Amino acid sequence: MEQGKKLLEKYAPYLSELFPEMKVSNGRITSPLQEIKNFASNPQYAPAANSGRMFLKRDDALSVAGSIKARGGFFEVLQWAHHLAVQKGFIKDEETLNLLDPVIKKIFSDYTIGVASTGNLGLSIGIISARLGFRVNVYMSQDAKEWKKNLLREKGANVVEASGDFGVAIAKGRDETINNPTGYFVDDENSMLLFLGYSQAAYELQEQLNVASIPIDEEHPLFVYSPCGVGGSPGGVLWGLKQLYGDAVHSFFVEPTHAPAMLTGLITGEKEKICVQDIGLDNHTEADGLAVGRPSSFASSIVHRLVSGIYTLDDSTLLSLLKTLYAAEGMFIEPSATAGLIGPQKIIASDYLTRHKLDPAKVTHVVWSTGGSLVPNDIRTQLLGI
Ligand SMILES: *Cc1c(COP(=O)(O)O)cnc(C)c1O
Repeated sequence: MEQGKKLLEKYAPYLSELFPEMKVSNGRITSPLQEIKNFASNPQYAPAANSGRMFLKRDDALSVAGSIKARGGFFEVLQWAHHLAVQKGFIKDEETLNLLDPVIKKIFSDYTIGVASTGNLGLSIGIISARLGFRVNVYMSQDAKEWKKNLLREKGANVVEASGDFGVAIAKGRDETINNPTGYFVDDENSMLLFLGYSQAAYELQEQLNVASIPIDEEHPLFVYSPCGVGGSPGGVLWGLKQLYGDAVHSFFVEPTHAPAMLTGLITGEKEKICVQDIGLDNHTEADGLAVGRPSSFASSIVHRLVSGIYTLDDSTLLSLLKTLYAAEGMFIEPSATAGLIGPQKIIASDYLTRHKLDPAKVTHVVWSTGGSLVPNDIRTQLLGI
């Protein structure tokens, strides 16, 4: 995790040149932590009174990729670019590659990066890979939104439309990419690098909580609520937070009722060996970022020892949360990203705190808002029903 931090620091000046949107953060991948007092007191979804402050971690506002996938995706592609340059003898491992050098860009154009996605990971990997000069094939599942595919094509990525869900897309992408001698596959069902990239968010959250003078310790616990697809992004964030806070962090994952991939994998103990279709569920949900039937083998093997709980939500609740957040705070986030918003109410109402002998008033709730800033206006109005 510490090495990962160094890699991001090393390449931040280049990111800020490659992406003008990242100038303001000096090339750092950061998002605001915002308290949502109005939402926390709305009649429908508020937790009981005096049950701690509620914050939204605004990864929906991450620049360039517009979702939490910026964290894992940028990290893995930067690491691969660096590794490739070391392997080819352009730099030594401890040196930094000049990502702005046209010669490097030309060399990268002989290599292909492949990724499979329901949308957002594709956007993240597609955009940064194309910008660095790589050829990039994004294998999109059938449920991927049209606007995400169009945006990718605009950014110079090659979109390959798979004939089924995420499981079908990733099998095709993996097969085609690893059979290509100059191919590199970003494997969302297995990737340790994506996971490490997500874990970097823990440093940032710790810094933000420190600045806000919010103590986190076993008596003042941090409750984190994360939408879960394959489990890489919520798992990476959780693993990172555990390194910094140990048992003071409690993490709850959220999945759609039609696609509870991690819940199914952990409750049966079968992890990636079982998918939601095996238990008769269809994996259909409006929350495209969570439309995943099988958990990541790497993430589930770590998450099963760290996660405090998992709950599920139906699509109508996700859409209702989306509208309520907008009405209360004026913030628009995509359906997948709303899943954690009901967490504080659910957990406070459960016996979790009594079992763990915790005082509700001393809890800090962080709801991870995982995506949304790239959603086009016409789709926003459609989702909001305005
Ligand atoms: C990808 C994604 C998730 C879930 O991340 P996983 O790594 O698949 O578990 C949640 N929300 C949004 C908006 C996403 O794009």
